[in-house]
Amino acid sequence: MEARTKKHHELYDALSAIVGKKYVVDDEFELIPYARDISYFQGSMPGIAVRPASTEEVAAIVKVANRTKYPIVVKGGGNAGGGVTPGEPGRNIMIDMGRLDKIVVDIENLKVTSGSGARLSTIDDALRPYGYYTSTVVGPYYSATSGGLASGIAGAGFGRNMSSMGCNWTQVMGLKVVLPNGDIITTGEGPSQNTNCDEIFFREVTGPDLTGLFTASGGAFGLITEVVQKVIPIPKYMKAICYLTPTMEATWDISLELSKMGRCPYTNVMMFEMSNYMVKPLAGGIDAYGALLYCVEADNEQEVDIRIKEISDVCEKYGAIHGNEQLDQFAMKGATGTMEMVHDVGANSCPFMTWESMVPRANSLEYAKGLVESFESVPGHRENATAAGMYLVPMGHIFLVGVTLRSGFQTPEAEEHMRKTWEAGARFMRSKGTSSAYGQGTNSQFIAETWSPTYANTMSLIKKALDPNGIMCPGLWNLR
Ligand SMILES: Cc1cc2nc3c(=O)[nH]c(=O)nc-3n(C[C@H](O)[C@H](O)[C@H](O)COP(=O)(O)OP(=O)(O)OC[C@H]3O[C@@H](n4cnc5c(N)ncnc54)[C@H](O)[C@@H]3O)c2cc1C
Repeated sequence: MEARTKKHHELYDALSAIVGKKYVVDDEFELIPYARDISYFQGSMPGIAVRPASTEEVAAIVKVANRTKYPIVVKGGGNAGGGVTPGEPGRNIMIDMGRLDKIVVDIENLKVTSGSGARLSTIDDALRPYGYYTSTVVGPYYSATSGGLASGIAGAGFGRNMSSMGCNWTQVMGLKVVLPNGDIITTGEGPSQNTNCDEIFFREVTGPDLTGLFTASGGAFGLITEVVQKVIPIPKYMKAICYLTPTMEATWDISLELSKMGRCPYTNVMMFEMSNYMVKPLAGGIDAYGALLYCVEADNEQEVDIRIKEISDVCEKYGAIHGNEQLDQFAMKGATGTMEMVHDVGANSCPFMTWESMVPRANSLEYAKGLVESFESVPGHRENATAAGMYLVPMGHIFLVGVTLRSGFQTPEAEEHMRKTWEAGARFMRSKGTSSAYGQGTNSQFIAETWSPTYANTMSLIKKALDPNGIMCPGLWNLR
C-alpha cells in the first residue's frame, strides 16, 4: 500500500476526535459517491464526509461547523432525485446518517422509534414479529432511510397505503432534531426541550408542534436523528385486481368517483400507462390506455370481496375491463411495494428525472396532459428522452401525477436536454400553482419559486433565527 502524501482536510482531526478516524473520509476518490444523486442535476462535491453514530455526535459536528463556518450537507440512503444540496461545492461537511440505525419497538404505545439512518425495510423487519408494520414507501424500501424519507420528500413520503391514508406525515408522531446551533430538540413525541417529559407523545396536547417545520425540509432547519411513527396491524386478508382502462378520461373518471366514496374501497391504487416497461409485457398485447392496480386489505374475507365488487362496478361503468391473472399479481406486488422489481427500480433506471406533482383532484387530468405537452415542447425531446410513462396515484383531495424520463444516451447533450426538460416541467408546475414532491437540492430551489413573498419571508426569518451562521444545508429553498 502507498503511503499517503496528501495533506488531510483542515477539520479531519476535529471530526475524527468526535466519531473516530475510521468514520471520516477526505480523499477525493472516496468522496465521489457523495457528490451526486440519481438525477441528471449537476452535483456538489463535499470537502469531507463523516459518519456519526449518535445524536450527540451529530450535535458535536454541528458545533464544529459553527465554530469554523464550514457548511453542512446530509445524506440518508441516497435515493434523492432532486439534486444534492448545493451548499458550498468543495467545502461541505457531508454527514452520512447511516450509522444512526437503532430501532425501538413500543407496541404498548403503538409506536416505533428509528434512528434516522435506519433503512425502511429494517423497521418493518423489527415490527413483523409483533404483527405490525409502519408506513414507508412503495419504492426504495431497502435503501431509503427513515430520516431521508421524513425530511426529503413531500409529506414525509408515500407508503403502501397512500391512497387511503394519505402522505406519511399523518403517521409521524415526532422527531428528534439537531438544530443548526447544535441544540437537540424533540418534537411531537416527548417535547423534551419544552416540558422535559419524554412520556408525552400526543402532538395535539403539548402546545405548538414543530414537527412540520422539519418534515420535507431537506435539512434546512435541522438534522433529523430519530423518527417516531405509528404502527399499523398487518391485515389478515389482501386481494388485488387490475382493470384496464379504454382512455385517459375514463381512467380519471373512475379514480375521481372511487376516491370520493366515504370509505375508500381500496387500500392502495396506482395507475400505470400501458407503455410502462413493467406493465406492457404482462398485458399480452391488450389494447388499453392504462392499468389501474388495486389492492384491498381487510380483516375478513367477506369484506375484501365486498370492496372488490365496489371497485369492479365503478370500473366497468366507465368501460374498463378486468386484466389477466399476471396483472392481478402485479397489482398485489406493485401497489403494495412487495415486489423486488419495484425496489430495484432505482438501480435499474439510473439516472432519471422524475416529476411527481401533488395536484388538486379537480384539475388533475388537465394538469397531466399539460405536463406532458410541456416536455414535448422542448426541442430534441423525442431524440433524447425516453419515457417510462405516466403514473397516477389518487389520494383523496389530491392526486399524485408522476412522469419519469430517462435518456437512451449517456452524453453531455442528453444530460443537458434532461435539465432543460426539467425546467420546462418546473415552469409548467409553477404556472399551475403546484410543484414537485422531491423537496431536495436543486428541486427545492424551483419549488421555492412557487412560494408567495410573505411565505418566503417567513421562512427566511425562521432560517435566520435558527441558523444565523447559515451553515445548515445552504442553498435549500433559496433561503439565505
Ligand atoms: C426509484 C425510486 C422510487 C421511489 N419511490 C418512492 C415511493 O414509493 N414513496 C416515496 O415516498 N418516495 C419514493 N422515492 C423517493 C425517496 O423516498 C426520497 O427521495 C427519500 O428522500 C429518500 O430517502 P433517503 O434516505 O435515500 O434520503 P437521501 O436521498 O439521502 O436524502 C434525501 C433528502 O433528505 C435530506 N436528508 C436525508 N437525511 C436527513 C436527515 N436525517 N435529516 C435532515 N435531512 C435529511 C437530504 O439532504 C436530501 O435533501 C423514490 C425514489 C426512487 C429513486
